[in-house]
Amino acid sequence: MNNYRTAFINGIILDGTRDMVPVKDKVIIVEDKKIVSIEDKSSANLSDCRVVDLGGKYILPGLINLHAHLPGTGKPTKKPMNLELICKLLSSNPLGQRIGKGMVASNAKNALMAGVTTIRSLGGIADFDSAVRDDIKNGKLIGPRIITANSAITVKGGHMANTFAYVASSKEEVVELVDKIAKTKPDLIKLMITGGVMDTNELGLPGMLLMPAEYIKTACDRAHSYGYKVAAHVQGYDGVIAALENGVDTIEHGASPDDKMLDLFNKKGAAQVVTLSPAIPYVQRFQNMSNLSEVAVENSTVIIKGMVELAKECLKNKIPVGIGTDSSCTYVTQYGFWREIVHFVNYCGVSNSFALHTATLINAQIAGIDKITGSIEVGKMADMIVVENNPLEDLSALQNVSMVVFEGNLFIDPKVKKIPEVETVLDEHMA
Ligand SMILES: [Zn+2]
Repeated sequence: MNNYRTAFINGIILDGTRDMVPVKDKVIIVEDKKIVSIEDKSSANLSDCRVVDLGGKYILPGLINLHAHLPGTGKPTKKPMNLELICKLLSSNPLGQRIGKGMVASNAKNALMAGVTTIRSLGGIADFDSAVRDDIKNGKLIGPRIITANSAITVKGGHMANTFAYVASSKEEVVELVDKIAKTKPDLIKLMITGGVMDTNELGLPGMLLMPAEYIKTACDRAHSYGYKVAAHVQGYDGVIAALENGVDTIEHGASPDDKMLDLFNKKGAAQVVTLSPAIPYVQRFQNMSNLSEVAVENSTVIIKGMVELAKECLKNKIPVGIGTDSSCTYVTQYGFWREIVHFVNYCGVSNSFALHTATLINAQIAGIDKITGSIEVGKMADMIVVENNPLEDLSALQNVSMVVFEGNLFIDPKVKKIPEVETVLDEHMA
């Protein structure tokens, strides 16, 4: 396919940069995987190009979901699942592994078909994510660019222990686990530093610091020695401070800040990644939640408040804030990233334009891939999506993608596998 040129004509470009405005009368020329030029319509030479007429639709960078888990679909279950047992079965024998990788592959493909051209997966089962990532890279599977931590590291009784995270009980075990994960060729390392909403039965106490500071430092030092960045699940003040002081690069979720925390973010060059989607079913009291208790509702309220307060302060203080869905959580689908972008506007008070800029170029910067993707610019990968209406006016335009371009490959009228009963409930609760 070398030197195969495609010209995208009659599209309205939203390029993903901070002050993007709709740009008409330009032609985007893609050769092989990359955008090689953006030319005036009047003077563009299309003679050696395959021409794709966008018919006045909007073309923007492919979306980047900065926080996902790939094994699940987000479909609610009637009873709480024994996730530990399921993960054990999936990882312990060849048949289970084949099934598990198949689930990851199918979910990743569904994300791509919904316009997510890069997905950062922060805690999965064994090495399934990186195996699927490599099969996509080698052309064996269709899917987005996957940036993965594979299995995360937690402590005994900690967040996602023995499901999406291995358990460390000493500093030595932390080193062994980083080495074990490094053998699976991840793209980064993920730590679970505090508990999560469902990890406590105590009212008002979500996000307790569970991982000792010395484990955090040991994990970060070891990960950094391999060249890996460290992302950490943190949902409480003490946890954020311990994470930043000991080398964590991105605070996933977050907690209410003070000046000390903001100073640390600045000093360390760290970023926050906001994930509002998983808390919504609790704070809005969805029916059909198998674990909707008053404690869960109250604790989710605390967490969403902390996350939002931190995001607002970070934005004010020029600290990078990215967004992700935390897909696989109940009611958080792999194809519903557009909802997180809308929540970011509704909860954090940013403009549609800034939210879209965040979902593309800022997320690329935080993931360290802004040299290759995140905006429609010459020299970057042709990662683009096409939507009928202007998302700057209404972000729900992003829920129906009429074309996805990933590394130059075209998917016209991509088929997204939606879960109808989930969509009905989520649509009722969009603020
Ligand atoms: Zn997560």
